Amino acid sequence: MNTVQNYTSHLIGRMTTWSRVNSPWAIHFNSGSCNGCDIEILATLTPRYDIERFGIKLKGSPRHADILICTGPVTRQARERLLRTYEQMPAPKFVVAVGSCGISGGVFQGCYNIVGHIDEVLPVDAYIPGCPPRPEAIIDGIVKLLTHLQNGTRPEPLQFALQEKE
Ligand code: SF4
Repeated sequence: MNTVQNYTSHLIGRMTTWSRVNSPWAIHFNSGSCNGCDIEILATLTPRYDIERFGIKLKGSPRHADILICTGPVTRQARERLLRTYEQMPAPKFVVAVGSCGISGGVFQGCYNIVGHIDEVLPVDAYIPGCPPRPEAIIDGIVKLLTHLQNGTRPEPLQFALQEKE
């Protein structure tokens, strides 16, 4: 590769990272949650929390999504659908587990219809604990994931401490 080609590929790489970090599109998947975490995710989209100010948009199709936001433990019924959704996303793709049930099984751990937590089915990039996590914690987790993506590498799984307000 000559100097011009090197420079061009470097420039394209930087533009790709810039656009990925500034307009990450997400898809939300409930793999067995009680809906508590899902309501908090929806709250992040409201004008009060306004996650779209970071360029994050919720999409209906996995083919348009960079980030899979997953809630709840994984039920036997949801496992195949969760895997199929993940497989349909274009690479590079990232998974965020929201809520204690997604991280450890939570209150559903040991139930007859539960396969396990999310990282037993998919590679999780960020964990956001809480039952349910507050919208601020969800936004904080996703923004921290994006900050790590700025260097163009897949981060080690991130564990975010829940900052509860007194
Ligand atoms: S973490 Fe709490 S709110 Fe979220 S799915 Fe589990 S029980 Fe429901």
